[in-house]
Amino acid sequence: MEKTGSVHDHEIRFQRKDGREFSLSINSSFVRNDSGVESGVECVVHDVTEKKSFEQALRFEKEKLELILGFNERINALREFKELVDFIVTSAAKILEVHRCSLMLYDEEKKELFIAGAKGIPDEVAKSVRLAVGDPIAGTVAENREPLLVKNIEYEKGLKRANRPYYKSRSFMIVPIVFEDKLLGVINATDKDSMLGHEEVFNNVDLKILTAIAREVAVTLENFKIYKDLSTLTITDPLTNIYNYRQFAKSLEQEMKRADREKGDLCIFMMDIDKFKTYNDTFGHLEGDNLLREIGGIMKSQLRATDIVCRYAGDEFCIILPGADGHGAQMSADKIVKAVRAVKTFKRSVTISIGIAAYRPGMSQKDLIACADKALYQTKQNGRNGFSIYEE
Ligand code: GH3
Ligand code: MG
Repeated sequence: MEKTGSVHDHEIRFQRKDGREFSLSINSSFVRNDSGVESGVECVVHDVTEKKSFEQALRFEKEKLELILGFNERINALREFKELVDFIVTSAAKILEVHRCSLMLYDEEKKELFIAGAKGIPDEVAKSVRLAVGDPIAGTVAENREPLLVKNIEYEKGLKRANRPYYKSRSFMIVPIVFEDKLLGVINATDKDSMLGHEEVFNNVDLKILTAIAREVAVTLENFKIYKDLSTLTITDPLTNIYNYRQFAKSLEQEMKRADREKGDLCIFMMDIDKFKTYNDTFGHLEGDNLLREIGGIMKSQLRATDIVCRYAGDEFCIILPGADGHGAQMSADKIVKAVRAVKTFKRSVTISIGIAAYRPGMSQKDLIACADKALYQTKQNGRNGFSIYEE
């Protein structure tokens, strides 16, 4: 009032003794006498609690509607599996106003359902749940392929509450996810808690919404699988199941750019199996193939998760070590040389040779690979079974 002479729609939130909040809106101005001198204050106070909660509910409904309208587009744009399942369960939970929602996928090999993503369920619980098709209750939905809406489990014949120790509500929905007759999983929703103060029991509209979500999820999961299979095919070597040369070139380019940007270290290895030709000649090509696969696995298990192991060609592998300087790279090389040498299960003892090159700004991919190749040649010259680092 002192600053502006009046107050318009000024809102204040209060709390009652019982904890409930209420909002007041205030309008006030000075009252002046005939000569224009302030002689008092006129003030009107409105209780706007109901209006506020209505506005909030509308905002919430609008958000939900936007989520429903954008759902298809958003899930189809997600390319990371974890992101995809998290988005599905959090969106479904929000749309249906539930505390708990889980997406169970069908493991065709084991004929079991497992939780791929969940909201409101502790991680350790989600990880441990495995249901056979036909098991109560989600397993039965997977078997029957019919959406299930339970209003109150206590009154439902054949369903026991004991099967649902983690849920507080007696009402829940489970809908199968099916694509062209193929079972992909089920989606569960329970513990409804409406913002608008509805009761906690699901109705047929809720079931229709969850069924529509499940239909969309089915298409997305199927597309995702095709996309994933295709992209795996184009970036991995079919024999060893590790990245191929094409992916190596792509990753190396990215890592070189990152090293430039972050002024970080970067090393690569060129690795070649020693006397692999005689291994092939002595034990046959199939054993040679097995050796290639196992060596690929050993390198992946010995190196950091961020290191990128690829098959270059024949018995040559290349490895990208982001963040590694010359010293760190030599320690890693030493580790894998020793690990391969220590394996007792090959047809004969096997050794490998490694050439290391450290990236310097301005180098091309070709330069870097040539340096690693020279270092590898040096190791072979030195009698194999070891590593060398390229020095100018
Ligand atoms: P060095 O120690 O000098 O490397 O001797 P090496 O015998 O390993 O010689 P080199 O690296 O030139 O030999 C590569 C061999 O790898 C020759 C080829 O027959 C074999 N090879 C290439 N691709 C495959 C494959 O996919 N499977 C199998 N089994 N062998 C392969
Ligand atoms: Mg070789």
